Amino acid sequence: MEYLPMGGSIKMIDESLKLAYGEDSEFINDKRIAAVQALSGTGACRLFADFQRRFLPDSQIYIPTPTWSNHHNIWRDAQVPQRTFTYYHPESRGLDFAGLMDDIKNAPNGSFFLLHACAHNPTGVDPTEEQWREISYQFKVKNHFPFFDMAYQGFASGDPERDAKAIRIFLEDGHQIGCAQSYAKNMGLYGQRAGCLSILCEDEMQAVAVKSQLQQIARPMYSNPPVHGSLVVSIILNDPELKSLWLKEVKGMADRIIGMRKALKENLEQLGSPLSWDHITNQIGMFCYSGMTPEQVDRLTNEYHIYMTRNGRISMAGVTTGNVAYLANAIHEMFA
Ligand code: PMP
Repeated sequence: MEYLPMGGSIKMIDESLKLAYGEDSEFINDKRIAAVQALSGTGACRLFADFQRRFLPDSQIYIPTPTWSNHHNIWRDAQVPQRTFTYYHPESRGLDFAGLMDDIKNAPNGSFFLLHACAHNPTGVDPTEEQWREISYQFKVKNHFPFFDMAYQGFASGDPERDAKAIRIFLEDGHQIGCAQSYAKNMGLYGQRAGCLSILCEDEMQAVAVKSQLQQIARPMYSNPPVHGSLVVSIILNDPELKSLWLKEVKGMADRIIGMRKALKENLEQLGSPLSWDHITNQIGMFCYSGMTPEQVDRLTNEYHIYMTRNGRISMAGVTTGNVAYLANAIHEMFA
């Protein structure tokens, strides 16, 4: 249980970069990525926000509406002004692509945007590959900087490679990007606080400088990151046998959630619900943004002891073959 260096475990960082940027990434080979181990995804976001504040004090961050609520707290406490951009379309319970593109176009050139790399929290709504390409193109036109929060790599499709597609599209298009990675969900390392912050720089020299500055920010904040979780990550990802076992387990988790989405939708349809429940299976990742109101959520809690956040977000990980019928029935009652 020795100390790690300020920037964390080099082995863990190397493996994390391969997961996000690709096994044979030219950017890894060219040493263009400044990366440090971070206190899981939250710590990675906070470190980036502090970096942004220190070196670009006049910059802002554009955050999707809605988003994981802690994003607002993180950039607020780092004293980076926030703007929001359109993301979710309440009527279709899908992506408001036109609104999103408008907001990207209308933001001042060179703005910072926070993007969920996959399995958007809380909505479960991700752009399609084609839409990501259009977003990336427009970012290029506007010279915006994309910061990807990737807290659920593997949880959307079951394949971490596929879930990194948005990032890979931006890389292909020649963007410099930032990326926050978390092993909380995809390795179940929640409390171990295992994560990584990376910033793709212009060249190796800049990457060395940026990494050094990230370490300067980390040092007075927490000195160095925790060792145990990073060992679990680097040992698993560095060993082909353990890695393939992990990939199988991630796929098992994601497939089970996808199966529960189908089961919930089918149960609601079998109950004769006249409403459309397509969004349950169209959305992806751990969460289903059900569209239920806070009042309906309160009723589910009080009358059925079913618990979810008051924005109507169901954690699909909590749905099982044993409780899906009970859940469907209760939801059906809310619309009776
Ligand atoms: N980003 C998003 C979108 C999340 O949903 C979460 C976890 N709820 C995180 C970051 C960070 O989680 P952690 O700090 O545990 O990795």
